[in-house]
Amino acid sequence: MSGLVIEPPRGRPDPAVTPNLHRAAAHWGTQRADARGRVDWEAWRELARQIRADAVRHLPELIELLEARVATAGGHVHHARNAEEACDHVVRICREAGATRAVKGKSMTSEEIGLGAALQGAGIEAVETDLGEYIVQAMGDRPSHILAPAVHLSAGQVANLFARESGRPFDPDDTAALVSHARAVLRQRFLAAEVGITGVNLAVAETGTLTIVESEGNIRLATALPRIHIALMGLEKVIRDWEGAAHLIQMLPLAAQGKMAAASTSFITGPARDGDDGPHELHLVLLDGGRSAIRGTPFEEALHCIRCGACLYACPVYRQVGGHGYGTTYSGPIGAVITPLLAQGADTDDLPWYSSLCGACVEACPVKIPLDDQLVALRARAHEDDAPRGEAALFAAWARLWSRPSSYRATAATAGRALRPLWSALARDGWQHRAPFPFSGWTDGRDARTPDPEPFHARWRSRRVGA
Ligand code: SF4
Repeated sequence: MSGLVIEPPRGRPDPAVTPNLHRAAAHWGTQRADARGRVDWEAWRELARQIRADAVRHLPELIELLEARVATAGGHVHHARNAEEACDHVVRICREAGATRAVKGKSMTSEEIGLGAALQGAGIEAVETDLGEYIVQAMGDRPSHILAPAVHLSAGQVANLFARESGRPFDPDDTAALVSHARAVLRQRFLAAEVGITGVNLAVAETGTLTIVESEGNIRLATALPRIHIALMGLEKVIRDWEGAAHLIQMLPLAAQGKMAAASTSFITGPARDGDDGPHELHLVLLDGGRSAIRGTPFEEALHCIRCGACLYACPVYRQVGGHGYGTTYSGPIGAVITPLLAQGADTDDLPWYSSLCGACVEACPVKIPLDDQLVALRARAHEDDAPRGEAALFAAWARLWSRPSSYRATAATAGRALRPLWSALARDGWQHRAPFPFSGWTDGRDARTPDPEPFHARWRSRRVGA
């Protein structure tokens, strides 16, 4: 087992989540489209794909080089086969230093291994310092997006939280006051912390440099003020050289937020030298957590991901249900691919079905991961052994029927018309919201919508004729 943290999906989404996500997706979508127009986007994507493919193909030798360079620069490298070992390393380093107060920068890898709970269990207070993560932690919630952990929350919810924390009211429209409250609280935490814990966006093997991209400045403080810096990184984040890293450092903010450069990028090569400010210990925890097992399989390209989050906003399923609907650390299209691969036996086989297979994620991906192909392959893999014979025969017959446009059109229209009266009768009992078993498996998380008597292709045709 990798120890990957899996929680049950939260069932029916909060109705406020969808509009919040749509607003964010529209905002970042416009920003990204503008920025991409300023570069040769397809050429940039192809170069980024090649850089990531090279890194993953040569992973063992690059990790060896990285380890040697980090050690030469005065850092310590710790290998973790799984989540438990990674948590153990972090807790041990804190204990050996006698540290009980830590500040954390946003790190999906730390969410993946459940580091927060491990530190809490060891009596180490670890405060999240990314604003979104800070809000999510204070609410006892979980991040719902790779880059924007609190994107599912409204300003009103944040204002209420801060009012409870401080005992004074906040106006949700006064973002300056909200940010100023968080800054005042966090500044004290930075000053008191003995350990700073961060993730890593890219590690440059040729010099042993850890690269961390951010937009708030909290990483700068977390890696500069405490006396110990612990960086946690999935093995696949290594990159061969500065030429490749320079391209990906530009590509990441472009794909994520449509920005030509991140607000701040830290390059960390070893701990502070004698006489310099900054941590005097640097520890790099390298997590395998199932990654090595993906190399050399048809799913290897999933390791190329640079965690930009673009595929999440592009995905109509993610935009509707949000990250919590997936019940896993990584959500959206990449989450539906990488989670079953990393989980090694945990019950995540349903995730590849959380997709319409529209392909929008593939177009958004800056490293050209064929997410739709991988989702289809994972669906096949999930049921290759266990499909009951009757069910397999039924689906094979259905596939044959709907492979021909004429029979698809005829049956889709007929099914819609035939099922409509039945659905209307069930709706009178409220079953479209809460159906009895076995249909409850569907309605626990969503409504059973009344079939439309006019299928999509018919409506599309009439729209085009009328256009
Ligand atoms: S799969 Fe591609 S688009 Fe999605 S987070 Fe990873 S790099 Fe970004």
